[in-house]
Amino acid sequence: MNDNISEQEKNLMDRIEKALENDEFIPFYQPQYDATTGKLVSAEALARWITPDGGIVSPAEFIPCAEKTDLITKIDWAILNAVCRFQKKRIDEKHRCVPVAVNFSRKHTAEPFFRQKLNETVDSYGIPHNLIEVELTESAMMNDSEAIVNLVSEIRNDGFNVAIDDFGSGLSSLSLVKDISANVLKIDRSLLSGNCESEKERIVLESIFAFAHRLKLTTIAEGVETREQLGFLRTCDCRLIQGFLFAKPMPEQDFGKACSQRFCDDYNEDILITQPHASVTSLIMEAVFTKFPLVIMANLTRNSYYMTAYENFSATSCPSTGVFDELIQHGASTMHPDDRELFRTTFSVDNLMEAYKRGEKFVKIVTRQLGDDGVYRKVETTDFFVQNPSVDDVLVVTLCQNLD
Ligand code: C2E
Ligand code: MG
Ligand code: MG
Repeated sequence: MNDNISEQEKNLMDRIEKALENDEFIPFYQPQYDATTGKLVSAEALARWITPDGGIVSPAEFIPCAEKTDLITKIDWAILNAVCRFQKKRIDEKHRCVPVAVNFSRKHTAEPFFRQKLNETVDSYGIPHNLIEVELTESAMMNDSEAIVNLVSEIRNDGFNVAIDDFGSGLSSLSLVKDISANVLKIDRSLLSGNCESEKERIVLESIFAFAHRLKLTTIAEGVETREQLGFLRTCDCRLIQGFLFAKPMPEQDFGKACSQRFCDDYNEDILITQPHASVTSLIMEAVFTKFPLVIMANLTRNSYYMTAYENFSATSCPSTGVFDELIQHGASTMHPDDRELFRTTFSVDNLMEAYKRGEKFVKIVTRQLGDDGVYRKVETTDFFVQNPSVDDVLVVTLCQNLD
């Protein structure tokens, strides 16, 4: 036992010990919802101490003290048992079941037979392993990285989901996230302000979600309280939402009802609010194609192009990818004889490169182009200089629209 323990703490420890004997620690369940559909898909079990007089003591009052000794591990096993019992009951009664995450203190990482005990406990209820998720805080993973990386791989191979809890709350090690085979990343609520309006905050969050998704981690935002936060998290393609906005931690019976009900009460079906980022982009593209029937991307540095033709347009009779110079030659040949030279020189690679170096944002001309019906029509062609952060190549997006 730790020597730095005050009389007051010793007293609390005795009470925790007795409370454990009396099964006074029970899980409350906080649902986790799909950020896009509002469907309840999983939950986290959070310990509550129900005193004999019916009072509810929150973890802040007993976890720090329990963590000074092995009492915390006893609480965690008690919660796991209660969750397994709940899942077993749901299965037996043929109710809808969802995975439930159980918090495991960093103390377990030093427990010799942790993995064995986890398997034995869950198996003793005969429930599938994927109905239990093991939540480890990022600080637990900082202790002995190699041992933790191995432990997490083994637990994952046993069929349990593993979540990294409170990511971003402390000294997160990105290399640990890279090496560890956890499949869920819980982003700590300390990274979210009331309305996520600070640019730096947005950049940090967007980057976390981007790397997490590339590492194929399921992302959960914790502590979501406002619609503004939800709206922003959706633009980051955040997968799951856990927070007071949708539901507070609740007793087993209420959670059972919420689970069967499937969707959160407050789900907003407005597509503008619920759509992921990719859908926003495709809607914007639809609007762009309505105004500009021909959109071409070109890489001037490599003399190449990529054509996105939406509707029939006279210039689309050439291949959709190829050499940019050849595209311009082809384009010029479809113009009125008096406009050909202007078109050719304006959009030559050399001319565009010079405009780019002068700091122009775009190059635009209007020419007459022959349509399939043999009639010349005015066409406006604009080359916008754009940048891709991962290359130094000079890129342009060409938008063509009919003026007649
Ligand atoms: P945690 O694992 O990060 O759990 C999330 C905490 O955030 C919970 O606090 C939850 O009630 C709270 N929370 C969720 N949504 C919101 C929100 O929208 N706004 C705000 N302000 N808070 C929100 P709780 O239940 O008080 O638990 C606190 C911490 O105690 C947990 O943080 C976890 O680290 C620890 N804990 C709870 N139960 C257990 C347990 O069974 N074992 C272990 N080892 N630790 C536990
Ligand atoms: Mg947790
Ligand atoms: Mg957390």
